Amino acid sequence: MKCPECGNEITAEMREMGLCYVCGFNQFAEYEQRLKEEAERRKIEKQKEQEAVAALAKKEEHERWKAAHPDADGKYYQYKTVVVKDKFMGQVNAPEIERVLNEMGYDGWRLVSSFTNEVGKNAGAIGIGDVAIGLNATMDETVLVFERVVKV
Ligand SMILES: [Zn+2]
Repeated sequence: MKCPECGNEITAEMREMGLCYVCGFNQFAEYEQRLKEEAERRKIEKQKEQEAVAALAKKEEHERWKAAHPDADGKYYQYKTVVVKDKFMGQVNAPEIERVLNEMGYDGWRLVSSFTNEVGKNAGAIGIGDVAIGLNATMDETVLVFERVVKV
């Protein structure tokens, strides 16, 4: 590094002593801290610039969309499906379905349709005391279809 005061090359010894032998500069720690803060500030500025560019691109995209869909009143629909599998013995996983519904609802999604789809059968045996019982469970998956309105 060079001395910020006189521009002289700072040797390892000078750095260790915290003193420029040419001009007497001795604020190296503060100087490096300032450089670090400056770099951090530049990083944040660059980030903000990139965000502004992305926001502008999105706005332009929306303007193009509005021009191409003049009757849509600035609204369009988005759809998403979430699949919840049955529990091991074929019971509907109600707590998981409820969790998904609430989580999606919180993000503005509304359930518009749901259906089940059989994915297979689970055969097994459980023993209760001396009695073994054979089980044959149907495994379904529940497909949840959500929609939300996007305003541009
Ligand atoms: Zn110096």
